[in-house]
Amino acid sequence: MSKKTIFAVVAGALVLIVGFLALNIEAETEKRNTANVVSLNPKDANSYRSFAPILEKTKARIPQLDPVTQLYVEEVKPNLFYVTDGIYQSAFLKTGAGVIVFDAPPSFAAKLPEIIKQRAPNEAIKYLVYSHGHADHVGGASAFSDIQGLQVVAPLKVAESIKEEGNPGILPPTKTFQDQHKFSLGGEKVELKSAAFHSEDVDVFIYVPKQKFIMAVDTITPGEAPFMDFGVTADIGEYIKFFDEVLLYDFDIILSGHVSILGNREDVVEAREYVFDVRDTILKAMPTFLERFGTVFETFEYTNDNLAYRSAIESVRGECSAEIIDRWKDRLSVVDVWADSHCEKMILYYIMH
Ligand SMILES: [Zn+2]
Repeated sequence: MSKKTIFAVVAGALVLIVGFLALNIEAETEKRNTANVVSLNPKDANSYRSFAPILEKTKARIPQLDPVTQLYVEEVKPNLFYVTDGIYQSAFLKTGAGVIVFDAPPSFAAKLPEIIKQRAPNEAIKYLVYSHGHADHVGGASAFSDIQGLQVVAPLKVAESIKEEGNPGILPPTKTFQDQHKFSLGGEKVELKSAAFHSEDVDVFIYVPKQKFIMAVDTITPGEAPFMDFGVTADIGEYIKFFDEVLLYDFDIILSGHVSILGNREDVVEAREYVFDVRDTILKAMPTFLERFGTVFETFEYTNDNLAYRSAIESVRGECSAEIIDRWKDRLSVVDVWADSHCEKMILYYIMH
């Protein structure tokens, strides 16, 4: 073989090796990272198309909205009506002596008085109960502002926040309570209990014992993994406790405020399993957290500790969400949309607890 030929063979081999490496790097960068921004370009690795479709079993539970009202209304238990616009939820109870309404989301509250009149033609609306003070669930209360003698019920702390914030859509509570409050109307009983699973002030377990119905808003999303940051909870420790607290009640329907699917006891049990799986996955990884931080900080030549901290969080988060997506993708919808957020929320909690 001439020197020229040897040179050509070596050069050819080098080109192949470099090409192979380049391809490998490309394949590596094309792996989707769910924490990245969702790309609107279908050709990108992080394209919206790379996320899993909604599971068929979730789709099968979605009720059809009425084409005229754009609402779904169902008497889910005797005298107890469930209302949704596909995104938000509310309910009302006919008692024979007046109607009790639970939450008034601004997205459809204006339609509620008419819906209630159709289903309870001879009963006045007597009570409006707030699940918590957030405007997206009670900001449509002003639809009931012309009802004489309407009692608006909420915890004292919620009433104080409502007064401070001054949202004109939210009627100020007329009946407040500290820890618990029970009341009856007609043949029906309602039991309210303060909790702290979601909002920055107080949440309420709204329980209607006869119908085995409970309301705990912004907790689970039936058929789906919980929303971002576990329903944007203000306190992940209290959110974790929520599941055992709610399961102490004798209920078979849970209204959790979002999506159009009304939840049941199995949905709570499944969501509990999901949340505890995220927690246990993070608890398993946390003992290596400082070591990961040290390793990347060294790689960054000790120049940027904040960046090293972020990188350590990202490495735990990435491992956690990959495991969670793998274990839950066939059980709950949108796991790949929110798993990163759930893992990160849990990391931050366990850095501090
Ligand atoms: Zn809320």
